Amino acid sequence: MKRLVILGGGESGIGTAILGKQKGYELFVSDAGKIAEKYKEVLLHHKIPFEENKHTETKILNADLVMKSPGIPDSISLIQKLKEISIPVISEIELAAQYTQATIVGITGSNGKTTTTLLTHHILKSAELDAGVAGNIGDSFAQQVAQNNFENYVLELSSFQLDGIEQFAPHIAVILNITPDHLDRYKDQFENYVNAKFKITMNQTKGDFLIYDADDVAIEEWLKNNKVKAHLVPFSLEKELPYGAFLKEDKIIIKLNTEQFTMSISDLTLQGKHNVKNAMAASMTAQLLKVRKQTIKESLSNFEGVEHRLENVKKVRGVFYVNDSKATNVNATFYALECMKNPTVWIVGGVDKGNDYHDLLPLVREKVKAIVCLGLDNKKIIDIFHNVVDVVVETAGAEEAVKVAAKLADSGDTVLLSPACASFDLFDNYEYRGRQFKKALREL
Ligand code: ADP
Repeated sequence: MKRLVILGGGESGIGTAILGKQKGYELFVSDAGKIAEKYKEVLLHHKIPFEENKHTETKILNADLVMKSPGIPDSISLIQKLKEISIPVISEIELAAQYTQATIVGITGSNGKTTTTLLTHHILKSAELDAGVAGNIGDSFAQQVAQNNFENYVLELSSFQLDGIEQFAPHIAVILNITPDHLDRYKDQFENYVNAKFKITMNQTKGDFLIYDADDVAIEEWLKNNKVKAHLVPFSLEKELPYGAFLKEDKIIIKLNTEQFTMSISDLTLQGKHNVKNAMAASMTAQLLKVRKQTIKESLSNFEGVEHRLENVKKVRGVFYVNDSKATNVNATFYALECMKNPTVWIVGGVDKGNDYHDLLPLVREKVKAIVCLGLDNKKIIDIFHNVVDVVVETAGAEEAVKVAAKLADSGDTVLLSPACASFDLFDNYEYRGRQFKKALREL
């Protein structure tokens, strides 16, 4: 019996444990922190041994195979030791993919993964394909492979999940964009992060597809210098392409075969240029899976969007409130500001992961009438924007931020929460930040 040790007792760890049990592994789950009650119950129910608040090396270094949760960095000494003694350390998707024959769509990128994954899944479901969705969404891929056995999966894949693959090969891979993020996990080298994203295509073969943003400098550069076996399927907002998707007179045109797909962007429910790209990627994926064009169009015009991503929350006294709490980096906020049509009161701040705000200056100058800082340390934001925006106010909680923003906004303005930063100085996570924002709105 092979011993599978699972490091990290979160969603991917518990899913792997369920799958591992089904496939006859001897199991051990170890978490350096606390394991949530709901997960402990699953482990107890399946009689899977586990420990929390520690890693006992004698129970780990004797593994045949280790599944590491994506949250654990490679740099910790336990992982280094495992590597030194040549015990394979893989991710949940690597293991789960070995136990399914399903057609896999893998979606990665610095921003837009969740939106595009859910949009793609929505189209496939509308076409009545038997499709599961996993990644940061719902039940883990491993658990679904153990329990559902779908014919297709749409997977949201972070670079950390991709770091731990060896043979994983999606039939359709999507790289939405690559902009600096998580560089702390990549020795501060953008190149390492780019390489991690491109692992998504590493095991693809001739019959597979790689859909990618042809306007993205980092992607284009990598493709120039490296060989890819999969069939390349580009999309662009900037140039007309002989093959793939592009924009012409506010219409999305897709040319994958002799029959062209055309759809006006005003018919998309999701707004903003970034969502046009997401829609292109999702539509091409669906077309490659033989979904009818009419079904794709209908799905794109009735997709409801995803919470905390440019979510139109409500209108109070003529002011529109938008929750983009998931914008945890500058690039995501760039697209949010870009699609603001009204004078904007911008709520920004939190934990800065080495942000460079310069790219935002032109948009802020054009659209932002006041800035409300929502973070413990707002110095960088104040330093860079105080010459461009007349009013910059510091706040230290969602309720205060909303009250101040409401005072600063006039009828016809938009208040946008798009922090460009992580949330954990004041909130547990971005979901909680978004929910607190919405709660404060209800009390206005
Ligand atoms: P991810 O799962 O990659 O974090 P999300 O779909 O959750 O992506 O979106 C994260 C943030 O990025 C949101 O603020 C959203 O509005 C923005 N966003 C969505 N798609 C894109 C894109 N293609 N390019 C840049 N930003 C995007």
